[in-house]
Amino acid sequence: MPNIPLRNGGPCARIAVIPGDGIGMEVTPVAVKAIQAAATKHNRPIEFVHFDWGADKFLRENITLPPGAVRILRDEFDAILFGALGDPRVPSNQHAADILLGLRFQLDLFVNARPTELLHPRYTPLRDITTNDIRLIVFRENTEGLYVGMGGFFKKDTPDEIAVQEDVNSRKGVERIIRHAFDYAQAHKLKRLCMSDKSNAMTYAGDLWQRVFKSVRAEYPDIDSRHLYIDTLAMELVRDPRQFDVIVTNNLFGDIISDLAAQLAGGLGLAPSANIHPGRTSLFEPVHGSAPNIAGKGIANPFGSVLTAGLLMEFLGWNDEAQQLKQSVKSALDDNITTRDLGGSRTTSEVSDYLLNQISKRSSNT
Ligand code: ATP
Repeated sequence: MPNIPLRNGGPCARIAVIPGDGIGMEVTPVAVKAIQAAATKHNRPIEFVHFDWGADKFLRENITLPPGAVRILRDEFDAILFGALGDPRVPSNQHAADILLGLRFQLDLFVNARPTELLHPRYTPLRDITTNDIRLIVFRENTEGLYVGMGGFFKKDTPDEIAVQEDVNSRKGVERIIRHAFDYAQAHKLKRLCMSDKSNAMTYAGDLWQRVFKSVRAEYPDIDSRHLYIDTLAMELVRDPRQFDVIVTNNLFGDIISDLAAQLAGGLGLAPSANIHPGRTSLFEPVHGSAPNIAGKGIANPFGSVLTAGLLMEFLGWNDEAQQLKQSVKSALDDNITTRDLGGSRTTSEVSDYLLNQISKRSSNT
């Protein structure tokens, strides 16, 4: 991912921390400590500022995203480390929509990057697969498509009711996500890129994606790019994930296909994600939600959050530190230091201690 100049022009990175609800409040502190441990070892000054936006604040003060919040995040921070939002006391999930979608749209975080890497063969449901076989990244368009909330009802609550949900695709939006995927492939020396759509059935949006893909790919002759319909991509990913390095697709298909890919490498507990606008304040969150069923029990798995912190450090250009975070998780999997969801019996804090110890050891070795 591209580096950004740090906001204050100096070597100090400013990170906004929004733990949110449920297990977000348990795993985010582990990720903060992991970043701190890696940064300290490399003499990278870093400042964290915590924001208590979430269900408690909403229920107490009726505030979701406070006025001016977006401007503060955009102007004063390099990155946002996010936990999870969702609370049974807010059945409408209004606070989650306001905060998370509000930030995604208002910060124009058009890239949703979902890397999937098999860190231990134990965690794939596929046969005869080694850790080298699943290493890919899905780029999901994050600001358009079926998620913009355009549409409406006609004859609501009658037997003749009609619901319309618009699929919005701008040339600018399609081009910037496809170009980002090619740039990423080029920067990371990844040879294979797949653009996926359903242009045989969704002909207008698909036509635009096809035309833009054709013109952008011509600028990257060294990258072996191809197109697959989204249903074929789903089948091929399961049949042989070795075929894929970089996948780029729209908002809806990206949502689904990145979950499928994540499941091939261990699922929710091991899945990180980044919401990026290159060169601007970007937001990093584990894929899992607030898991109210296990919140407060001290058994939440912090790996997704720590891997997410790794993506944040990579975004800051701190690649060695990012690797250290990933390696600490890999060691924990190798040594079976895991929480219940991954078949272990460790608590969040035991796993956290192990990871921090690994990061300090590794950091001091480099
Ligand atoms: P939300 O509504 O906020 O999305 P959720 O719990 O309904 O939260 P997921 O995060 O998708 O949705 O989680 C589904 C289930 O997977 C959880 O209820 C929990 O049992 C398990 N789970 C998810 N993440 C973790 C984790 N980090 N550690 C342990 N278990 C997890």
